[in-house]
Amino acid sequence: MAILVTGGAGYVGSHINKMLAQKGYDTIVYDNLVYGHEEAVRWGKLIKADLADAETLDKVFKENKIEAVFHFAAYAYVGESVTDPAKYYTNNVTNTINLLDAMRRNDCNKIIFSSTCATYGTPEKLPLTEDMPQNPISPYGASKLMVERIFKDYDRAYGLKFAALRYFNAAGADPDGEIGEQHDPETHLIPLVLDAASGKRTDIKVFGTDYPTKDGTCIRDYIHVWDLADAHLRAFEYLKNGGASDFFNLGNECGTSVLEIIEAARKITGKEIAVINTERREGDPPVLVGSSAKAKEILGWNPQFDVEKMCEDAWRFAARTS
Ligand code: UDP
Repeated sequence: MAILVTGGAGYVGSHINKMLAQKGYDTIVYDNLVYGHEEAVRWGKLIKADLADAETLDKVFKENKIEAVFHFAAYAYVGESVTDPAKYYTNNVTNTINLLDAMRRNDCNKIIFSSTCATYGTPEKLPLTEDMPQNPISPYGASKLMVERIFKDYDRAYGLKFAALRYFNAAGADPDGEIGEQHDPETHLIPLVLDAASGKRTDIKVFGTDYPTKDGTCIRDYIHVWDLADAHLRAFEYLKNGGASDFFNLGNECGTSVLEIIEAARKITGKEIAVINTERREGDPPVLVGSSAKAKEILGWNPQFDVEKMCEDAWRFAARTS
């Protein structure tokens, strides 16, 4: 039996691929390497292919007994999804349908899905719980929500069992330092702050200092990628044990401001970090914090790592790759 990890050469997928291998699972990473990194696939087998390629997908299912699919393959640049929505709906939605149909043809009925808190849009109430309204404000968020809805219908009609995991702000790197976050272009706060610490960038731009928050900067719920990996394995066990298809928030349940992240990075790196205050970035809600009570209760998940550990692990990986 093997696990198919789509997008397993990407940031979150590569960490889960590692954890699956550590737990003794055989994995097959399926990645078109558009944004993924071949060198991040150090465990299992790599198939370089696109989810649009139904023939290759079928071949993978037929040649291997695939017990479940962990599905990370997606485009994830929020800004780009606004300027090129076709790219996002085609890759994130159409290609997911292609994957689901290959699963149906090959009698595989379990999927663990990388969803996002971006499906909620701008929250009316905090912390966000799974039953709150989902009104995404970007095509990226909408594409993930569409997939969630497709899962529900496929469950009812075809018996697909899914766990859709809505991450808050994924951050950090493998605690052993073997793999980490490598986006090109990089848009996420923690790697950019660390680039400013290492001198790879001259400064960090803070997008907005006049938000109605404790220090005027945006507040997010950062969650360590290794804690995310643990939640995926728990979700898989849950489905294997007959758990019903469901949606789970994955966050630390605590808010950290942009300035607090910069401070944590200064502490961990011991470096100066030049800060430039700039305009707000369009579409950024002031505060996003989730409740993970459901994942804690049903999956027995208990995240271990704080933002300092996220900075520490990301810094170690950045030093290795620079
Ligand atoms: N941010 C910032 N400067 C940057 C990148 C991000 O001030 O160069 C802020 C952004 O406005 C948001 C937070 O950092 O409030 C986290 O942004 P990121 O892009 O990492 O994740 P998002 O919350 O958009 O998923």
